[in-house]
Amino acid sequence: MSADKLMYIGGEWVESNSGQDFESDNPATGEVLGTVPRGNADDIAAAVAAAKHAFPAWRDTPPDERGRWLLKIAEALREHAEQLAVVLAKESGHYLGKAQGLVEFTAQNVEFHAGLADKARGASIPTGPGRLAITRLEPVGVSGHIVPWNYPLFLITRSVAPAIALGNTAVIKPAEQTPLMAIALAEVIDEVGLPAGVFNVVTGFGEEAGAPLAAHPDVGSITFTGSVETGQLVMKAASAHMAKLTLELGGKTPVIVFPDVDVEVAAEVAMQGILSRCGQVCIAGSRLLLHDDIHDQVVERLVERFSQAKLGNTLDPDTQMGPLISQEQLERVEQYVEIGKQEGAELLVGGARPSDPELQKGYFYLPTLFGNVTSGMRIAQEEIFGPVLAVMRWSDEDEMIRQANDSPYGLAAAIWCKDITSAMRTATRLEAGGVFVNEWIGEDFKAPHGGYKLSGIGRENGFECIEHYTEVKHIAISLEAEKAENWCDAPL
Ligand code: ADP
Repeated sequence: MSADKLMYIGGEWVESNSGQDFESDNPATGEVLGTVPRGNADDIAAAVAAAKHAFPAWRDTPPDERGRWLLKIAEALREHAEQLAVVLAKESGHYLGKAQGLVEFTAQNVEFHAGLADKARGASIPTGPGRLAITRLEPVGVSGHIVPWNYPLFLITRSVAPAIALGNTAVIKPAEQTPLMAIALAEVIDEVGLPAGVFNVVTGFGEEAGAPLAAHPDVGSITFTGSVETGQLVMKAASAHMAKLTLELGGKTPVIVFPDVDVEVAAEVAMQGILSRCGQVCIAGSRLLLHDDIHDQVVERLVERFSQAKLGNTLDPDTQMGPLISQEQLERVEQYVEIGKQEGAELLVGGARPSDPELQKGYFYLPTLFGNVTSGMRIAQEEIFGPVLAVMRWSDEDEMIRQANDSPYGLAAAIWCKDITSAMRTATRLEAGGVFVNEWIGEDFKAPHGGYKLSGIGRENGFECIEHYTEVKHIAISLEAEKAENWCDAPL
């Protein structure tokens, strides 16, 4: 029996060589949304072959024309915004208003990267008289994209848009929890008429489809977003053929609040930072470092706000927080809450699933606040990926910096402070790829995004992503009409 939706390889809609399908469900209700092919290594090989075949013509397409293809895709995303937002809300658990915003954000992201097509350029290098030395940026070839489930639309385009703008072709392996979103994007791209083989999607599981993509010798660059453990496997697989690698892995973002900040503002940002997308965000503000002077007031407000958050179906306009993505993720959160209690942290609110039977059909978990957390506790060190906030206190600035940097991760940090000198001094001392001062922008595709330490390698977005999707070629040309004697005695 055919799957409800098929994979997209070489411009065709195909079943898997495995002959098997799998289901995608709605994490808010448990309802099955549809079936998709269970892709395997043969399907990855077919997709890489299609991308390799399409590469020379795509590379040689004039850059401004490649940029225009991306602009057409952005336009088509807007035309189909409503239907894409519904898939996003139903399959990944973003509530509808947020999902709609994310589709628009995705269209803007594609437009930004469209501009790179004819603007990324090399340089001329002063190697001396008698020679012209230049660099040229050339596409890498076939790029592989292994994508997680938390932002399943935006995160595909974040890496695929620059890859194809710069002349590469792409093979995408979406997360097994959100394959329908990737297929919906492929349908839009198919409708736009992008040349066959430039954009390919293989649905399937990590070990069966993700691993062969990372290991495929014809894949020149790999972009991976997900867990540290899987990132390490991808890195090993890629090392066999020296693929370029961008890894965006976990985070344990500290949200640092100074005593001069309005306590209402502090409570609001702390709540948004951890409850947005139910805490399933790499940059989720999961550690709250409150100055002693305002600690109690902010905590009191947080307890109140956490207990008032409205959980519900993602299509209900009143919903403020959706579900966790899966039973597995729910159990992980439950385990960490137990660990927090055993470690001696004080459970201030939440710490359970909601009692409403309707919500129990999905993977909901109540907003959870732990007080009296110390830096060495596992709930302060490990990424939980759920609506669980660990509150710590500080009074001395050096001690606060030590606490904030006492983490294996270094993706992002937030500082709330009116005194700009203290704020900027702190920003320079934090070990994080992104620091937001009196701001919670999450991610802006115009600026580089990536992490220190276990949070990853390389940067997405901005001009910084260009490095990942291009090879730098140095060309040296002699300008001398006649060679001097012994001209080829190189100084080695
Ligand atoms: P999560 O973010 O759910 O913790 P992962 O980091 O394992 O999970 O998943 C992120 C992406 O990596 C998904 O698309 C998943 O299918 C894929 N993946 C999982 N295991 C592997 C693997 N061994 N090799 C390559 N990709 C994998």
